[in-house]
Amino acid sequence: MSKYDDIVHYQDYEELVRILKESNNNYDMRKIQKAYNLAEKAHGDQRRISGIPYILHPTSVACIVAGFGMDTDSVIAALLHDVVEDTEYSLDYLRKEFGKDVANIVDGVTKISKIKLYSREEQQAENVRKMLIAMSNDIRVIIVKLADRVHNMRTIECMPEQKRRDKSRENMEVFAPIAHRLGMKAVKEELEDLSLRYLDPIGYKEIEDALMLRENEREKFIEKKKKEILKASKMPAGKIYVSGRVKSINSIYRKTILRGKTMDEIYDFFALRIIVDDIKECYNILGVIHDLYNPIPRRFKDYISTPKPNMYQSLHTTVIDSEGIPFEVQIRTWEMHQTAENGIAAHWKYKLGFTRIVNNKKAKELDANINRIRDVLQAQIDTDDSTDIIRNIRNDFDQNEVYVFSPKGDVFNLPNGSTVIDLAYLIHTEVGNHMVGAKVDHRIVPIDYKLKTGEICEILTQKDSHPRRDWLEICKTSSARSKIRQWFKRERRDENIVEGKMMIERELKRSNIYLEDEQLEDLLSFMLRKNKFNTVEDLYASVGYGGIQLWKVMPRIKEEYALKFKPHEDEPVISKPKPARHRRITSGVIVDGMDDCLIKFSHCCNPLPGDEIIGYITRGFGVSIHKRNCTNIPKDISKAEEPERYVSVRWEEEIKQSNFRANLEIICTDRTGLLADVTIALSSMRIFIHTLNSRHITEDQAIVVATIDVVDKEHLETVINRLKSIKDVISIRRF
Ligand code: MN
Repeated sequence: MSKYDDIVHYQDYEELVRILKESNNNYDMRKIQKAYNLAEKAHGDQRRISGIPYILHPTSVACIVAGFGMDTDSVIAALLHDVVEDTEYSLDYLRKEFGKDVANIVDGVTKISKIKLYSREEQQAENVRKMLIAMSNDIRVIIVKLADRVHNMRTIECMPEQKRRDKSRENMEVFAPIAHRLGMKAVKEELEDLSLRYLDPIGYKEIEDALMLRENEREKFIEKKKKEILKASKMPAGKIYVSGRVKSINSIYRKTILRGKTMDEIYDFFALRIIVDDIKECYNILGVIHDLYNPIPRRFKDYISTPKPNMYQSLHTTVIDSEGIPFEVQIRTWEMHQTAENGIAAHWKYKLGFTRIVNNKKAKELDANINRIRDVLQAQIDTDDSTDIIRNIRNDFDQNEVYVFSPKGDVFNLPNGSTVIDLAYLIHTEVGNHMVGAKVDHRIVPIDYKLKTGEICEILTQKDSHPRRDWLEICKTSSARSKIRQWFKRERRDENIVEGKMMIERELKRSNIYLEDEQLEDLLSFMLRKNKFNTVEDLYASVGYGGIQLWKVMPRIKEEYALKFKPHEDEPVISKPKPARHRRITSGVIVDGMDDCLIKFSHCCNPLPGDEIIGYITRGFGVSIHKRNCTNIPKDISKAEEPERYVSVRWEEEIKQSNFRANLEIICTDRTGLLADVTIALSSMRIFIHTLNSRHITEDQAIVVATIDVVDKEHLETVINRLKSIKDVISIRRF
């Protein structure tokens, strides 16, 4: 038995009408009835998973919203919140029939429900929270969404286990913190408690049972304190309201189970709340309490003179009675109480000129202090509709950021003023390099389009497209700019390589020397080490842009030619096709069911053509290719955490990409010159070396680790065999 067991799961329209009438607020009942009629018609005979008519969900949400004391448009938006998403009625229709505010709230709620909220990364959760607040240009969006969440949690029992846990985690990570931020304590506690029930059913039950055990004891204690305080205050019973306060299960859970304390060690396990009419009386009562019991030093907090950022106000103190039992006391006015429970929603009333909420008769006797606080709030609210309240509340959120999401619901966080180019490069360098355009909210936008929070942005790419120089002027982030620059540098390099090679060939032709590419590279290999080049490409590039002046080196090249090719031509040539030197972007891998997706070869296992492979769909970085037996890939995919992310892939029949990385581990007897021998062997085979390191493993053994480019598995075997023939090499292993 908990306080949530009594909650009515579904409330119908009649109930809503009753709540609205009892509220004493001026609701536009005609308009609300019209909204209900539409919702009823639109949802027709749709049913919830439990089999209950769907319409009872929006009416229940509307009841919760009305319970906060929200205005007519909020109640209407609550009634219609699922209409645009789930039925044939459009946003434009709602705008025409109910005005732009209602349409805007419904639109916001619909958008939020499309975002993928739960993620394992804390950073992402923070982004999502920030974005939800930022994208709610009208705070009522969040309030209606929270009510929707609360109702879904109340009725989540019939959902499958995994769904309940996912939703519960979303609540803990995203919605409860937002409710807290908006001061909506009742919502926060209900979301947390109902979620905890699914996330840790055993812990939840433990606390619930412990609370039950102490319930009698607690009630007696509270009754006794009530009497003592009433007597000491000398106030008439109607002027002071004293009640026991049960802490939320989640807050006890965090103090006991998570911090290893026992229930008896929690100070404020016994807690009293005293509500009076004005601020002066709050401080009077505090005096009474401190006379009556012994205050615990440093446990007094005055949130009346210094309200919490979410507007919460109260006096807190912890005292010990004559029997040595500590208990916490909260003292506040009715108005503060309303704010403490419903936060921002409570303040909504002022904007609407609603009558006071709880204690109407005291309206005229408002304490000067309350007036002051109210004036501040009023001022904030009046300056510029609701956006200002939210601006005030999220003052710790960076205004200089925008949050947009991908069609799949991933959230990306960019500086204000960022364009679709910045987003493309943020997603992945290759996405940026191949971007041809972008769609925002499903419409094509120009390339200099500046993104706004809450927009869904899809980057359009094409395999053979590339960046343009004017992007450098358009993009906002320096990371995008540097990636574009890098691309141009690399691209120029390719042009330079072609140019340099042609220049050398032209010069040789003049001497009637015609060589195959392989022979040419072989001829030029003598120049590499001298000029500290790794590959012959570096040499070509250097010639191409004029770093090496050809007229200076041509005589030496011709000399070398005479030496190498003319007298004896028995130099063994490795019988492998020369790797195509132009790195095409084609990946060589086909992903079943996906054309033209981004491919990345994983560096954990460096798959080669010929290996059995599998693809893994990453978050925002395309498909990464692993060897099937890579240690990072589960043996049984069906038992993987997210099996749907694994896709079957295969090598293209004809691989256009020339270079694949392979890691080699060479164990050898240590001697001087060994590393040099390996380097020479590799460069004689024209193997591009990415890294080459060696270290001792025993007194006389060393391990050389090399990352090299090879064409495929067969090529790698040739390379390994060649390396094995080096003196003192003991074994070679690919990893
Ligand atoms: Mn809903």
